[in-house]
Order: sequence, then structure tokens, then C-alpha cells
Amino acid sequence: MRPRQLLGRAVDLLFPLRCAGCGAFDTPLCARCEAALQPAIGPGRCGFCSAAWEGEGFCPRCFGWRELAGVRAVCEHTGAARALVHRLKYERYRALAPLMANRLAAAAASLPVDGWVAVPLHLRRERERGFNQAELLLRHAGLPPAPARLRRLRHTGSQVRRTAAQRAAALAGAFACEGPPLEGLRIGIIDDVITSGATVRECARALLDHGARETWALSFTRASLDLTRLHASIED
Ligand SMILES: [Zn+2]
Ligand SMILES: [Zn+2]
Repeated sequence: MRPRQLLGRAVDLLFPLRCAGCGAFDTPLCARCEAALQPAIGPGRCGFCSAAWEGEGFCPRCFGWRELAGVRAVCEHTGAARALVHRLKYERYRALAPLMANRLAAAAASLPVDGWVAVPLHLRRERERGFNQAELLLRHAGLPPAPARLRRLRHTGSQVRRTAAQRAAALAGAFACEGPPLEGLRIGIIDDVITSGATVRECARALLDHGARETWALSFTRASLDLTRLHASIED
């Protein structure tokens, strides 16, 4: 860690409440940075997967995503939004969860979902981190939980620097659904960030196998992968 980073970390410890965008004190996200968040819903976004897309109809990223009825996100994975996701997950800054969850809850209100599940972490990862960020967001959002929940069967390792195809292969069959059958229910899947979509698609498959009628995915940020490379530099 360089001296500057070290100093930054020391300041964070002394003054934990600073804006994720500009570093202003006494707020996790100041009004100016909140207004500057790039919404992932509306014009310029794919109507199916919510990635950045200026073309007609759906973008090529989500071609063939039959497991899902759609993917929604609060904002693009950039700037202050990206910093919020990183702080919650890697810096274990749990105080950010209510702020992010409020926005998730507002986005969830427009989706035809009967019950929600969180993308699970492998137990080993959850123990390292001390919590599952998706579960924390779901809890703070106050959304109705589904009668069954997802479990991660395998530790899939870091997904960073894997291509979309490599991610999909690594995640195949990685999730199972536990609890009463979801017969006839429309289930929503919550995650902090959706990147290649491989994780939520695999979760959706497990939910459909367990009887769910339809699945939706909702995340705080949507990373619009470069269409020419479909290569990501962050965890799903
Ligand atoms: Zn700010
Ligand atoms: Zn799309």
C-alpha cells in the first residue's frame, strides 16, 4: 500500500462517514453525487438486461437469457455507484447498505415478483467477509422473502479477469434451491452488481428447477461490459 492509500485508509477509519463520490464528510453519498448517479432504467438502456444500449430493442449481451424475465438495476456501475458497491463488499462498510437498499426497494416496486432471494456466497467467502452483501441489501430493502432460498454448492473462485464464457462455465450447476417448492411463484433475485449475468442466470435456473414460474434479477449496479470483449474486471 502506498503512503497516499495508507493515509486515505487512516482518514477513513477516523472519519468513516464520507461521500463515496467526492469524499465530502458526514454523508455516505452527498446530494450532488447522488444526483449524478447514472440511472440504469430508461432511454439508452437495454429493455431486457438494463445494460447501456443505444440501439433498437434488446442488446446482444442478453441474447438467449431464457431463464430470466428481465434484469433491472438502479444505476450504471461507474463513479460513486461503483465506489458504493466496492466499499460495501471489499471494505465491509455495512453502514452503506440502507442507502443502497432503499433504492433497490424503489426499483423492486415495479416488478411482478411474489418473493425475493439473495445471490448466496460460498460459506468460505461469507466467513472471510463476515456477511453476504446481497443478503444484507435484501434485508434492508424490506422486500418479501421467497419461501425457499438459494445455496452455493461450490466455491467458484475469483471471477475477476474471466471472460463471460469462462464465468458461465465456472458457475454451471453452482447453486441449489432449498426449502418448500416455489410452484407458481414469480421470484426476484437480488445482487449488489450484475456484470456478465452468469451468476443470476445460474441462480434463475436453480429457482426454475425448484418450481418457480418466472424469475427476475435486480441489482444496485449494472456493469455494461464492453461488447467487443465481454470481459469484466469485477466480481458479479
Ligand atoms: Zn459527493
Ligand atoms: Zn440486453
